[in-house]
Amino acid sequence: MSKPYNFYSGPAILPEEVLEKSIDAIRDFAGTKLSILEISHRSKAFVAAMEEARNLVKKLLQLDENKEVLFQHGGASQQFLAVPYNLLSRDKTAAYFDTGQWSTKAIAEAQNFGNVEVIASSKDKNYDYIPKEWIGEETLQHKQFSYVHITTNNTIFGTQWSNSLIDKLFAQTQTPIVADMSSDIFSRQMDFNRFGLIYAGAQKNMGPAGTTLVIVDRNLLGKKQEFIPTLLDYNNQIKAESMLNTPSVFAVYVSLLTLQWIEKQGLKQVETTNSAKAKLLYDTIDSSKIFEAVTFGEDRSKMNVCFKTADAETDKKFLAFAEENNLLGLAGYRTVGGFRASIYNAMPLAGVQKLVDCMQKFEADLA
Ligand SMILES: *Cc1c(COP(=O)(O)O)cnc(C)c1O
Repeated sequence: MSKPYNFYSGPAILPEEVLEKSIDAIRDFAGTKLSILEISHRSKAFVAAMEEARNLVKKLLQLDENKEVLFQHGGASQQFLAVPYNLLSRDKTAAYFDTGQWSTKAIAEAQNFGNVEVIASSKDKNYDYIPKEWIGEETLQHKQFSYVHITTNNTIFGTQWSNSLIDKLFAQTQTPIVADMSSDIFSRQMDFNRFGLIYAGAQKNMGPAGTTLVIVDRNLLGKKQEFIPTLLDYNNQIKAESMLNTPSVFAVYVSLLTLQWIEKQGLKQVETTNSAKAKLLYDTIDSSKIFEAVTFGEDRSKMNVCFKTADAETDKKFLAFAEENNLLGLAGYRTVGGFRASIYNAMPLAGVQKLVDCMQKFEADLA
């Protein structure tokens, strides 16, 4: 049997080419005759790889010279904590959009530091949309927030801030925007320089588990009086070039390989392919008599497509059928149910086509 198509939400699919090159580097990293798993993070070869990875992030996202790129430990979840540690004082307020479980967790961490104002929430409908009632309201314009936090793609619920909605947010506030882009970083073009801070766990769209990308505007840092734990202090990490302690050498290197794979196509092509994959899948769901989508309109995620049938029994049957057909990781998150097809950058159109064929076959067999 050939390799299954991997629809897991994270850790998630990696390009074959990246896997092959990772295997080579386990044997012989950059001609050193040492494995990437055993080489010192202070070795010339790895220091060069770390630098290349940081530079490639800058290049792919066209970042200006105020932006610093870091590779950190602790996952995106640690950034829930690091962000308020660095940007929020006890007597100040940060604004958060509550668009799903990851936002909720980020809010809970920030509440330990200062005041948090939840600007809008889609909890009332189990997070199946991105709130918009703030558009045109004055909440964001006049209040003195230290920052506004959004989760650009809600991995569990299959919603995503569209580019036009993000534009509206920037049009409405001068406050720095902090974005958790864990599950859609490098999936589309955008003016990334507008953000005050971006963070993303690598394991969804950028590499393996074990490292987290942080992009921060240097001008936001160094303004807090309170103590920041050494490892969480972005200024310390910037000075040490992401090597304040031993970095996740392998995870950073595989992320570099993934970035190189993205560079070869260009972000524009990556976005075009992602749109084609999402359209194929949503069109199939929308025209089906048994499958239905969980999210609608411009809020639909192009990374995590959530859908279901009318009953849990049929859901179970389809999951089994998909597995028989070598399609793995399609179960929806337990609070959403149904299915979630994570179709990150590395998922080829052929994988989505296989899923669509399988859905149509299943539907025809039921009839
Ligand atoms: C997966 C995910 C996280 C958590 O990432 P960890 O690296 O496991 O901490 C946070 N935010 C979003 C949007 C995610 O998809």
